[in-house]
Amino acid sequence: MKTLPVKVGPVTIGGDAPIVPQTMLNTRTTNIEATLAQAVKVADAGAQLIRITVPALSDVDCLATVRRRFRALGYEVPLVADVHFSSEIAIAAAKVVEKVRINPGNFHPDHQKARERFAEFLAVCKEHGTVIRVGLNHGSLGRYIVDQYGNTPQAMALAAMEWVRMCADASFYNVVVSLKASNTVVMIEAYRELARMMQEEGVVFPLHLGVTEAGNGDSGRIKSCVAISTLLQEGIGNTIRVSLTEPPENEVPVAIYLANRYGPAEVLPMNLSEREEAILKAACDWGAPLLNHEMDDIPLEDEYLKNEILQACRRRFYKPEYIACPGCGRTLYNLQEAFEAVKARTSHLQNVVIAVMGCIVNGPGEMADADYGYVGEGAGKVTLYKGKEPVLRHIPEAEAVDRLVELIQAGQPE
Ligand code: SF4
Repeated sequence: MKTLPVKVGPVTIGGDAPIVPQTMLNTRTTNIEATLAQAVKVADAGAQLIRITVPALSDVDCLATVRRRFRALGYEVPLVADVHFSSEIAIAAAKVVEKVRINPGNFHPDHQKARERFAEFLAVCKEHGTVIRVGLNHGSLGRYIVDQYGNTPQAMALAAMEWVRMCADASFYNVVVSLKASNTVVMIEAYRELARMMQEEGVVFPLHLGVTEAGNGDSGRIKSCVAISTLLQEGIGNTIRVSLTEPPENEVPVAIYLANRYGPAEVLPMNLSEREEAILKAACDWGAPLLNHEMDDIPLEDEYLKNEILQACRRRFYKPEYIACPGCGRTLYNLQEAFEAVKARTSHLQNVVIAVMGCIVNGPGEMADADYGYVGEGAGKVTLYKGKEPVLRHIPEAEAVDRLVELIQAGQPE
């Protein structure tokens, strides 16, 4: 799908440009040394855009310092501020970095006010040449749209189109759009719908692809690859982030594999083990036929890999469905260890969806239709959810996995 080209510093997204692999840091932005060190690490791994969370207005100064020092080290990789809820933070960040990711619908609970704030934000971005990503996720659609259309892929695309039109009406074309979901079927349908709607209206912005809360290890890689590769084969997608609950430098080679495989390339150097590359290849080979229901099974002798791919495509479930965010500067507990511990204690279960999320600000909304949730609440504290209800609050991190397992056992059929 031919899109408008969008220039983010020295990087072009869309148009005839190659697919841009990107990632997001998980340090606290106030910890400038750690943030800078991680930015260097992911840039050295090949990330072409680096996103950094900006939870508070005071973090904008830290972001500016990181950017200044990163540039002084000779790195030209553009930085992206990740902002939730606050148009004030988004406006401040738009003055210091090349790109800002926002969900405009969350700027205010009153939809008209959210529109007004988005218009103010666009004016600042126009003045400073800042690119925006309108980033809507399946779990964070506004009430106004869910009430009308349900929590569906169509609702996601329609919600995005409102902001796409506002940008076009303001003659603002520095726009990238994303519609992520942890459910691969929902994610693919949402992007297809949005691509169709933008083409119909004649304003086709580049798309940032990603599966949210994909988890880690082979499962996280496979889940991301089946969905992203399906869209890239259809010509949908211009920049990609593979979200893993792992150090962010691990995400980059997977994104590069996809960028290289589906071009137009510029073939980037990949740093993958033979095993990892074989897993990514199988996920990309079989993802689209399974997701498009052209096949019901795949001729793989490796039962484990076959099961993983079938589950990622939601065709057969052989273990719990895990939803885990990658963590970011909002995460105040050891998310990666907790997720491993939860998996180790629950992997024998079936027909259950378990979420492990980094923060209480976005975690509960983003964990979508999980049956149980383990959500970081503050420094070393966790809240446990059953469905959408918080049932045990302020649990010390050291006890939280035990309590989650008890909660799940109590809800299992005899
Ligand atoms: Fe960061 Fe996870 Fe919270 Fe999203 S849910 S803002 S990735 S900690």
